[in-house]
Formats: sequence, structure tokens, C-alpha cells
Amino acid sequence: MGLLEKILLPFSGLLLAFWFYSARENFNPEMLKGKRVIVTGASTGIGEQMAYHLAQMGAHILITARTEAKLQKVVEQCLELGAASAWYISGTMEDMAFAKRVVKEAETLLGGLDMLILNHVGTSYFGYFNGDVEHVRKLLEINFLSYVAMATSALPMLKESEGSIVVVSSMAGKVGFPFTVPYSATKFALDGFFSSLRQEFTIQNINVSITLCILGFIDTDSAVRAAGDVLRVRPAPREECALEILKGAASRRRELYYRYGSTRLPLLLRDCAADLLDYLVRGRYRLDEPR
Ligand code: NAP
Repeated sequence: MGLLEKILLPFSGLLLAFWFYSARENFNPEMLKGKRVIVTGASTGIGEQMAYHLAQMGAHILITARTEAKLQKVVEQCLELGAASAWYISGTMEDMAFAKRVVKEAETLLGGLDMLILNHVGTSYFGYFNGDVEHVRKLLEINFLSYVAMATSALPMLKESEGSIVVVSSMAGKVGFPFTVPYSATKFALDGFFSSLRQEFTIQNINVSITLCILGFIDTDSAVRAAGDVLRVRPAPREECALEILKGAASRRRELYYRYGSTRLPLLLRDCAADLLDYLVRGRYRLDEPR
């Protein structure tokens, strides 16, 4: 392979991607004022921060997770921050009936839906794949099937409002990551389902946007607890991450990368230098740490 294909083409790709990204910022907080939004997994972490940003922008918010006491506090804080209205419903996304019920509640409480933010994530382990197939099945239900169930139930309302589906995924859903095999599998599944669905929406002239969010390491308590000692990279702030997701969603972008430099740029290597990308990913870990 010549110099052109090995170096110049990827380099031009990097430049083009950078230009494309910088040229696309057209967000205004007014875009979310009065919008009716569901945020899943909003008792902690990035979901909680998205709820606070939405509140400050004057949105109507329905949040969900399992821990009622935490949801209650987030709702109180949202109302103080200026949410047009704020509600919660607690339950587990292992139960598809619950996933659908959350959407039904939005219809009752908010009178419709403009944005469905699918963000929750089930607990998994950080370490070599342990062969537990049942765990993979359970995680697929929480991290993938419940997303499908909620998007399906919400579609009539989203068609009506010409709204948006936001799917929070990960670098681990675009390239193989060690020590999170079941989690990665669920995130790859999201890309397959929602990118294919986006194609069908285009063919059928359905004006519902789908934004897939590809996140790097973020400083949420759970992520830092699981991988803080092993990852060499510094986590990015969850508040900024949450805001970037909302900006991408309101601008109806197909994919959102945060942080761009540590997610989108390395991924440009996927097609032209996959082994190099795998090597760079492994380089993010302290492999001498016990797991
Ligand atoms: P987090 O702080 O651990 O929050 C996860 C949320 O999901 C919590 O609100 C949790 O609340 C809820 N949840 C967990 N199990 C649930 C279940 N069975 N049913 C319903 N809700 C459940 O996570 P995060 O770090 O903010 O991550 C948010 C999203 O970003 C996830 O999709 C994650 O994959 C993605 N992401 C995060 C990072 C990172 O480094 N943080 C990197 C890439 C991608 P309860 O426990 O109260 O149910």
C-alpha cells in the first residue's frame, strides 16, 4: 500500500472530520424550551445532569430509574432550576412492561412527547469475559431491548411531534473494548438497530431524528469506580457531556461524539488501520493492574 493510502488519506479524513464538526454548531437553548422530554437513567450520572440542563432550558421532564429516593431529589432540583414541569416514575428496565409504561405516563402527564433520551445502563463487571451467558442476556434486555421497546411505544407520539430519539452509546459500541465484553455487545446492538431504523425513517419520510451518542470516558461515579484505576485517560466532565448530548439532539445530528478528539478521530482508523486502532485502545489500559 502506498504512502497516499496509508498516511495521506487518513490525514485528509481527520482534517475533513474536524472541519465538518466545527461547522455544525447551531444550538440555541430556546430549542428545548417547553419540549416534552423523557430521560431514562436520570437518578445519577449523565442522565441526572441532562435533567438539570433541560430544567434550566424550561423543558417538561419525565425521568426514570430504579431508585425512587434519588429520582425524587432530582425532580425537586429540576423544579428549582426552572423546569416547566418535572415528574418521575421508578422501576426496572429489565421489565419491558415497565419500559412501555414510562412512555404511556409521558402521554398522560406531558400530553405527548418531543424527545426520548435513552440513557440507562445495567450493572456489569469490569474484567475478562467470565463466560456467564445469562448475564449477557440480562444486560441485552436492560441496555438494548428496553431501548427498542420504549422507542417503539413512543413512535406514534414522536411522529406527531416530529421529535427525536437520543441513544446514549459508547466508544465501546463502535470498536472492540477489552474488559467490558457484555456491555460492548449491547452498545453495538444499539448501533445496528437504530442506524437501520434511521434508514427506514428516511425511506418512509418519517421526520423523527435519531442521534447516536458515542461517548468516551466520563467522570460519573460508577464509571470512575469501575475503571478509574485501570484507564490511563482522564475522564471528561459529566455536566459538559450532558450538555453536548442535548445540543447534538436538538440539532438533530445523526451521531454525536464526546469528546471528539478521543472518540471520532481514533475511529477514523477503523477502516484503514483496524489493528492500529485496537492497539491504541489497548494502550488506554494499565494492563498490569489486577482484574
Ligand atoms: P450511571 O451513573 O451508572 O447511571 C446509570 C443510570 O441507569 C442510573 O440512573 C441508574 O439508576 C439507572 N439504571 C441502572 N440499572 C437500571 C435498571 N435495571 N433499570 C432502570 N434503570 C437502571 O451511568 P453513566 O455513567 O451516567 O452512563 C450513562 C450512559 O452513558 C450509559 O448509557 C453509559 O453506557 C453511557 N456511557 C458512559 C460512559 C462513562 O464513562 N460514564 C462512557 C461511555 C458511555 P438506578 O440504579 O437508580 O436504577
